[in-house]
Amino acid sequence: MVKLFGPETNMAADMADNTGRKRILTGIRPTGRLHIGHYVGALENWVRLQHGYDAYFLIADYQALGDHIDDIQLIRESVLQVAIDWLSVGLDPEESTFVIQSYVPEHAELTMLLSFITPLGMLQRNPTLKAETEQLRPEQLNVGFFNYPMSQVADILLPRADLVPVGEDQAPHIEMTREIARKFNRLFARENPVFLEPGTLIGRIPRLSGTDGQAKMSKSRGNAIELGDDEETVRKKVMSMFTDPTRLRATDPGHVEGNPVFEYHDAFNPDTAEVDEFKERYRAGTVGDVDVKKALIVAMNNFLDPIRQKRAYYEDHMSEVEEALMEGTRRARVTAAETMKAVRDAMQINTYTSTWE
Ligand code: ATP
Ligand code: MG
Repeated sequence: MVKLFGPETNMAADMADNTGRKRILTGIRPTGRLHIGHYVGALENWVRLQHGYDAYFLIADYQALGDHIDDIQLIRESVLQVAIDWLSVGLDPEESTFVIQSYVPEHAELTMLLSFITPLGMLQRNPTLKAETEQLRPEQLNVGFFNYPMSQVADILLPRADLVPVGEDQAPHIEMTREIARKFNRLFARENPVFLEPGTLIGRIPRLSGTDGQAKMSKSRGNAIELGDDEETVRKKVMSMFTDPTRLRATDPGHVEGNPVFEYHDAFNPDTAEVDEFKERYRAGTVGDVDVKKALIVAMNNFLDPIRQKRAYYEDHMSEVEEALMEGTRRARVTAAETMKAVRDAMQINTYTSTWE
């Protein structure tokens, strides 16, 4: 793993944004390559928003430890891979700020401080956390994982984001962010509120299903079509996709709703006339799964081709990827230091240092 930068990093950087633009913060855990669910649930919005907003994109490597503590190598490799995926879909580091969470330790400090004003019940009631912890064996569930929505609250509040564009599964964490921001201001910063209450922006497809028919495509469930998959891999994955389990023969009337092959057609096939015709024939039992899948393979590969080409470019130009991460993280450190000063002042932490210095 290339060392990104050392302790000599220049903290006296210019401000992240002095144009008065509103800020967004959002992120992804470096736990593998990104997939088409990330694209329609999140990335697509990010690419659009980066032009009008001061955009912070976080690679949440602290948070990844929660369920990948036994595979730190995967986290380290995925930091760069996620950045390549971002650049390949069109996130522009000149327009936006790419941040590696662990290089801005204020994320950890704010998580710790905010945990003292967060009732345990708030985490226990969080529906996304509940569903995710149920997927872990009891011995896999560590305190850090249980606390991850809390760390996400800190991630969002640290740059004082106005808006958080995410997939639907993240909405409860942003609701929690609003509650914590409100509570912090009420308890410690009545006169001069430190935090904003951010809005949530859900993507075009709030939750894309997995190739296996599970409700959510996910890096860690082996049910994803990755943005970097080659043509042959896409062909194999689509051909083995879950379709309509009630349909035994191509001449049986089939179900389009809840069928991930059609869900992907709707999301990625720009030829809506072709999709409508397939839907009609599928319902009537005049087209087989194989033909619908073949058309999906073509649409999917057309969609992925430009992304693959850019990926190949960045794999040959890793210094540009590292530069994007270094530069963004440097800017984020400045913003983080400012917020933490306001937080410590509000909570009267470090208030003796002026007499000791
Ligand atoms: P993991 O399985 O490691 O949790 P993940 O695939 O859920 O990985 P995250 O890093 O947790 O990915 O999510 C990053 C962003 O992508 C979040 O905003 C999340 O809501 C969105 N996202 C992830 N999967 C999907 C999906 N299947 N559909 C829509 N949005 C998604
Ligand atoms: Mg996830």
